[in-house]
Amino acid sequence: MDINLKENLIAALTTEDNEITPVGSFPATCMIELMEKEGVSWPKGHTDAEDMATIAASAYEHVGLESMVLPFDLCFEAEALGCEVALTDHDNSSQTTHSPFDIETFEADPDFIHNARFPAMIEATKILQDKYDDVPIVGAMSGPITVLGQCLGIEGVLKDVNTKVNTVEDALDEMTTALIEQVELYNELEMDAIVLYEPNGAPELLAPPLFKQLLNPLHEEITAASDIPMVLHVCGNSLPQMENMLSTGYQGVSIADDVDVNEAQAVRQQLGSDTVVCGNISVTDTLFMKSPEAVKEEVKVALDKNVGVLLPACMIAPLSPSENIKAMVQARNEYFGIE
Ligand SMILES: [Zn+2]
Repeated sequence: MDINLKENLIAALTTEDNEITPVGSFPATCMIELMEKEGVSWPKGHTDAEDMATIAASAYEHVGLESMVLPFDLCFEAEALGCEVALTDHDNSSQTTHSPFDIETFEADPDFIHNARFPAMIEATKILQDKYDDVPIVGAMSGPITVLGQCLGIEGVLKDVNTKVNTVEDALDEMTTALIEQVELYNELEMDAIVLYEPNGAPELLAPPLFKQLLNPLHEEITAASDIPMVLHVCGNSLPQMENMLSTGYQGVSIADDVDVNEAQAVRQQLGSDTVVCGNISVTDTLFMKSPEAVKEEVKVALDKNVGVLLPACMIAPLSPSENIKAMVQARNEYFGIE
């Protein structure tokens, strides 16, 4: 296939004048099958720059996904801010085991981008850039209420929203100032795009009017700081949150299969939003459980509904068969008549 994958992804997210729909791997795609082939494993894959680069590249090398994403877990920021984090030895998940913070006195050191696994991630990015000219490198990060939830426990944060909303707003502001440093780091590293995870912004956790009040101004600040296209990922049925997601300066939203792409496109049209709707191949029902043929059918439906970038609906199950992920790429190729 004779296209520049970087240019194709950036065009899909910005001008929409790309000829074929890119098929990407953000949220991060870490398949155990491919890691075994490469001789890398968890938790070292989270901390060693060479292994991080190998895992990020494996989605492109072995199954042809047109992006390389790093880092891989949702506690990356919390750890660098000062929390203790447990990394598992069987998948890319992580969890906070100890936090020095409370909501009243919460402070986020903007210099956190030098801590914990940031140096390894920076080195891994450079390894990938030296090795690959035209494959997009996507910097992953989490959003303000997601990282605050990792630092303080999301249940407590949501309770505090009801009883002392100003205190939560102060903590979210503090967090956003730090996260803007991370965006600027990604700018400096010349990443090709950023995917920002905000699972704690799902409508069943944060009602849409609260998201609008608490998070829209912060997401606007974050996207304004980026020189590169940004894609916002919210898990599950994010349709009630779609208006907020499509009006905060992102170039793309990444949605789960709980949302009908047509309904998200309708909200986009109503708002006159430039934000491209991306997604949404089911990670559990289809990519993990079904056959390549079933994957291909679902891909065709998503392309018919005009997804801007074809993506898994969320982080894929680590034991998903690589044949199924490869089928996403094959189905996209067949759709566009590419050999
Ligand atoms: Zn998700």
